[in-house]
Formats: sequence, structure tokens, C-alpha cells
Amino acid sequence: METCNAAVITEHNKPLTIQKVKIPDLDPGSLLIKITASTLCGTDVHRWHGPLGDKDSLPIITGHEPCGTVEDIAGERTDILGKPVKRGDRVVWSYVACGSCYYCAVACQPCICRGRASWGHNRSDQHPYLLGSCAEYMYVPKECLIIKVPDEVTSASAAASACAYRTVMHGYDRLGAIKSHETVVIQGSGPLGNFATAVAKDHGAKKVLVIGAPANRLEVTKKMGADATLNLEEVTDEKLRRQWVKDHTDGRGADVVVQVANNMAVPEGLTLLRDGGRYLNIGAGGKANIAVEKIPQEMLFITIRSGEPRHWLQAIDFLASRRKIFPFEEMISKSYKLDQINEAMEAMANYSVVKAVINF
Ligand SMILES: [Zn+2]
Ligand SMILES: [Zn+2]
Repeated sequence: METCNAAVITEHNKPLTIQKVKIPDLDPGSLLIKITASTLCGTDVHRWHGPLGDKDSLPIITGHEPCGTVEDIAGERTDILGKPVKRGDRVVWSYVACGSCYYCAVACQPCICRGRASWGHNRSDQHPYLLGSCAEYMYVPKECLIIKVPDEVTSASAAASACAYRTVMHGYDRLGAIKSHETVVIQGSGPLGNFATAVAKDHGAKKVLVIGAPANRLEVTKKMGADATLNLEEVTDEKLRRQWVKDHTDGRGADVVVQVANNMAVPEGLTLLRDGGRYLNIGAGGKANIAVEKIPQEMLFITIRSGEPRHWLQAIDFLASRRKIFPFEEMISKSYKLDQINEAMEAMANYSVVKAVINF
């Protein structure tokens, strides 16, 4: 076996093609993973539509949310909990920070490490070729931490924990405790918004209010525990949305607002927050041209990028331990095969699904 099939972006905005991509030899400590599921993320669509950042250069295997089984290991490896990793184990794996730059070593903020390795944006014609998840196999560098997936978590949900869900866990980690009298407003009803709804409920919020669209996504939001939802497409006047939040919070505004849409939602989000509240800014897309009339007094503004390896574990643990409380599988709306990649990307681009999964 020298090559495998992969969904490759060869030109922005043009259909992806299924290509044969080289399977590399394994360096000591690295692994070869047979992919079982790859979920798609909004970022995959943004990267497909146009270059994301200066370093994007094509061809790229799309996808950065993989789950798979260990096909081969070069030497001995243990997982994040110190248990041996064996062939056939179903796993997810972390991104890699360099460990020695200012952000890693001094500030202890590895998610903003300048030498960070992540997936879904590396050239498929350069070693080690297989660093995108919409492929039959992926190469896992030796620096990645491995998280085993318990039997009760599906491959599709585990895959979604490799980006969407672990970022949400990182956000709540930084936010700290939610008190039992507090109301949380979530801006966005995509995969992050729906997962953030479940975590806010789980962490003890009195009320979770979600502002999002379209209606099919909000139906899932309700199942994930939202106490009330507001459809952006129906309530188009920002003032009315603000009034809705005020009506739910005795006129004060929310104790916590979680932005999981994009940066353009921040100005409105700040008006939904009470004085002294906490704003958790997760959605990183869109221009951050943030003009605000008034910044809430004594507020905290927290921004999040990606996640640390422990947040992969937290997301997998949450999926396993809360599976009887929240119907996580409802967030994976539609399953596709690898050769249907364009259909799947289109469905993500037009929001007709919450999350699409490529099953292998
Ligand atoms: Zn992502
Ligand atoms: Zn670093």
C-alpha cells in the first residue's frame, strides 16, 4: 500500500477532487491511522472558498476533525493518560505546540504558539502528505498526544471533538464556574453553539438562551437543552433581540454571553451582557471591526483559540459520560462517503446541515 484516496482542494472555489496521495514511512514515535470518520467544520468551507492566512498553499487535503483506528505505530506509544496505545485502538489526537517559544514556555498559552502544527491546511504533495482528515489514512506526528475513544462514543462524535467540541471545552475552562442563578446567552446555533448549550446546562446555568438560525439548527439546539431560542431570520431587528434577552433577565442582560458565530456578532453580543458579566468569544471568523456604543462596566472579555490536549480528553469524556442526557448524535445531521465530498461541503456552506460527516 503506497497511496490512499483523499479529498483534495486543488483550486479555491472549484470542486474538490479525489486523488491518490502518498502514504509516508513512519518516523519513530509516529502513527498511521485508518480514518473511520471525518466531520466537516466551517473552517473547511472558508479554506475551500479562499486562502485562509498567508501560508495556505494548494493542494490541500481538506478536513481537520478525524477519528480513526491505529493501523501502525513506529515503536511504543502511550495515550494522554499513560496507557499503552495498540494497533486497532480507536483514537483522536491533539495538535502540537513547539514547547519552547515565548507563548509555550513563558506564557503557558500553547494555543497561540507560533510554531504550532494543525491539520487540514498542509500541502498533500509534501512530506508527510497525509495531514488532512478527509482521507483514508492520516499520519500522526510523534509529538501529538493520543486520546482513546471509548466504545460508547461514535466515531462521528469523536471526530467532532477534534475541533468544535474541544474548543468549546477550552472556552468553558477559561470562563470558570457558572453559578446556579446565572443566565447564559449563546450567539450561534451551529455545532459549537449546540455543544456550548449542552455544556452550559451541564455546568449549572439557570437558563440558557440561544440566538441563531436557521430553524433546522434551532430544533437541535432545543434538544441540547436550550430553555428558549430566538430565530435570527424571524427576528431581524437587533433591538427586539436585545429586548428578548432583557425580558428573560429582569432587565439586566445576561451574566454570560458565549459567541460561537463569528466576530461580527460581538457588537450585538456586548449589548446583551449585563454590567459585570463575562463575554466568551469563541467564533473567530469574520472581520473584527468592533464598534460599540458602550462597553459593559466591569466586564470580562475572554477570547479562545483552538484547545490544549486536555480539552480533547474533556470533550471525549463529556460525550461518553453525558450521552444519556444530551442527544449528541443529533448534531451530526448527514453522513456522506468520501466521493460525495463536494455535496458535503456544499451542505456545510449553505447551513442545510448542523454538521456533515464523511464515513469511511
Ligand atoms: Zn474546525
Ligand atoms: Zn510554542
